[in-house]
Amino acid sequence: MRAVVTGGAGFLGSHLCDRLLAEGWEVLALDNLVTGDAENLAHLKGNRKFQCDRRNVNEPFLVDGEVGYVFHFASPASPPDYLKHPIDTLKVGSIATMRTLDLAMTKKAKYLLASTSECYGDPEVSPQSESYWGHVNPVGPRSVYDEAKRFAEATTMAYHRYHGVDTHIARIFNTYGPRMRLNDGRALPNFVFQALSGQTLTVYGDGKQTRSFCYVSDLIEGIYRLSQSDEHYPTNIGDPNEMTIYEFAERIRAHFPNAPAIVHKPLPEDDPKQRCPDITKAKKLLGWEPKVSLEDGLRLTLEFFKAQFSKMTASR
Ligand code: UDP
Repeated sequence: MRAVVTGGAGFLGSHLCDRLLAEGWEVLALDNLVTGDAENLAHLKGNRKFQCDRRNVNEPFLVDGEVGYVFHFASPASPPDYLKHPIDTLKVGSIATMRTLDLAMTKKAKYLLASTSECYGDPEVSPQSESYWGHVNPVGPRSVYDEAKRFAEATTMAYHRYHGVDTHIARIFNTYGPRMRLNDGRALPNFVFQALSGQTLTVYGDGKQTRSFCYVSDLIEGIYRLSQSDEHYPTNIGDPNEMTIYEFAERIRAHFPNAPAIVHKPLPEDDPKQRCPDITKAKKLLGWEPKVSLEDGLRLTLEFFKAQFSKMTASR
């Protein structure tokens, strides 16, 4: 029972490490800390079942000993992060996906790919079910992430079909919670950082584009159940409670007594206008659906962000 988690120091990767340890696994986390943070794993120091290696899985790497499961979670995932690291993002979706699948094949381990709702691009149907093939600009700025993940899915299916690797694919929709980076550039951390520092909240475009936000504990529960299932095709894991980004900014403002005003900034190129998971498959297959309300999730996340913000301002 030893699992390898690439991207183990990231937001989702670190929560997954916690969950696997709680299930009795030994865990080896691999991370190059480009967007991950060693602090996310600091609480595991001294845990004999846990090991973290600073390694770039875009380069060749070896893992000694037995491995029962490979979870490929390494990748920049926020739009500003993958725009800043376009080539590494393409590599981690392609070359590193192959390397991690090779590792699973050699070790006779199971495999789970952290894929994304970005595979649907700027969707023409909503909600998005797994049978929708997507609407992705193959050469736009977001393509480094979208196409890398689509390639990663195709590669994972090929290793399953051709090599018989026991693979699983989670299409992860927007997720939030403690251990997100306050400066990762996504909507939630941006709005919270802006509210905490008294700056206006920046809504891109008219704010009518939609998203839905899944609390991290729900997401990890869905991922874990999928990892234990017999399903090989992609499965959506996300919260179907859709709202506009303007409404979302207002929900966050409501937590701050003297919240600054909302201002509008230009909409980034190819920003999806609508995104909402159809989770019928996950419900049926895994008996899973999100449980944590946005209010409860936001409360827990704000506590974390406030502590981060205090640390940040104290160290200045
Ligand atoms: N967004 C925004 N203001 C910000 C950051 C993001 O209005 O300061 C918008 C962004 O344009 C997108 C939505 O919020 O429509 C979600 O963006 P995020 O970067 O969180 O993730 P995405 O779903 O685009 O991957």
